[in-house]
Amino acid sequence: MRRVELSGGRRLTQADLDRSGVLPADVISTAEKIVDDVRERGDAAVREYCLRFDGSCPEEFRVPDEVVAGALDLVSPEFLAALKQARDQIRDFHEREREQSWFTTRADGTMLGVKVSPVASAAVYVPGGRAQYPSTVLMDTIPAKVAGVERVVMVTPPQRDGSLSAYTLAAAALAGVDEVYAVGGAQAIAAVAYGTETIPAVEKIVGPGNAYVAAAKRYVSGDVGIDMVAGPSEVCVLADATADPVVVAADLMAQAEHDPMASCYLVTCDAELPERVLVAVERLVSQSPREKITRTSLDERGVIVVADSLDAAVDAVNVVAPEHLELHCEDAMALLGRVRNAGAIFVGAWSSEPLGDYVAGPNHTLPTGGTARWANPLGVYDFQKRSSVICYTPEGLLADAPAAQTLAQAEGLWAHALSVGLRRRIAEGGTFDV
Ligand code: NAD
Repeated sequence: MRRVELSGGRRLTQADLDRSGVLPADVISTAEKIVDDVRERGDAAVREYCLRFDGSCPEEFRVPDEVVAGALDLVSPEFLAALKQARDQIRDFHEREREQSWFTTRADGTMLGVKVSPVASAAVYVPGGRAQYPSTVLMDTIPAKVAGVERVVMVTPPQRDGSLSAYTLAAAALAGVDEVYAVGGAQAIAAVAYGTETIPAVEKIVGPGNAYVAAAKRYVSGDVGIDMVAGPSEVCVLADATADPVVVAADLMAQAEHDPMASCYLVTCDAELPERVLVAVERLVSQSPREKITRTSLDERGVIVVADSLDAAVDAVNVVAPEHLELHCEDAMALLGRVRNAGAIFVGAWSSEPLGDYVAGPNHTLPTGGTARWANPLGVYDFQKRSSVICYTPEGLLADAPAAQTLAQAEGLWAHALSVGLRRRIAEGGTFDV
């Protein structure tokens, strides 16, 4: 892991964090070509890319509903119980996020408000290239269902034999996915953005994926809604001398094992801690079946920031704006108010980040690459739209018409002034001729 020393008032900068290379130019151009081709040729193009990249293509992209439901009988009772616990806790959390319509009435009787409506349809992308992610099925489908989305479609790449894993399908059945399609990559994003003969177009596409998926989502955005362009996973651990170096090491490795491009940051004002953490990593990593990925991520993208005060350390965390932040400090809760930028904040030594990945309840689809400076976790609000509601009474019209007419005239918009002026005359009991 690279070491950055912050002393004498030096602040961490974006230049200290190498976040480049996440969406390489060749990946962007490949993904965009695939999208254009699928948009033009539909299923035939999807089929070709499926065969080329996944090694197989199912006869029908749509997985029959009975196969989805049948997966519940194929998984172990322990897995099913864990999945149900996760589903219930994720749903309880997201129920609290649902936004309600609201209305207010002025003294003159004019009613103003916001009408909240769900998007009509959504596609959930569930990655499936290198691993299976039933947890992502739950995390991305449940907020859509809580929002009231009528048609939730799931797309995920087929395995080598053309089927989908029973874990993924069981999660789809439990989460209430309406239709499952065995198609992945940029071709899946194009299919649900523009529709094909057998795959429906939707209003919004959400969910994480590799760089091809991210580039395709960015490309179709605007024609269809997207949640975010997700990059590789990240964790930032803010730790003081009270932190257990072995636990910190495990937490860094838990992120690094996702992806060679995953980024791990250790921020501390204890100059001794990094060495102890690195020794623990060295002892643990050789036991990991994902040793190579973990080492590559830590060696090539890991950063240790040593600050000379807690204030400087918290400031560095806000510059990193990580996807996941762990506060391994003596009075972690007291630091919470000072953290502005992070996708999810795990407070105190008991709050292991993987608990949040699976069961705690908050969403695990989170802003990456420093976008936590302005972006939010995936939530029910991603599937809800707001419409402003304006309902005037004659009294309200008379109160607001003069100001509206003055502003319309200043903007040179004659018919705007006319539209208000005619109503004003009627409300005042007058008449007009055309
Ligand atoms: P994926 O489903 O995202 O990608 C697999 C697809 O990529 C294939 O079906 C294929 O169509 C396409 N592809 C592969 N090579 C290609 C090439 N050379 N040209 C064009 N298309 C190509 O699965 P993955 O690759 O395993 O990536 C999953 C990613 O999602 C990982 O980075 C993982 O960390 C991330 N993830 C994030 C979260 C989260 O919540 N942030 C959760 C789960 C997974």
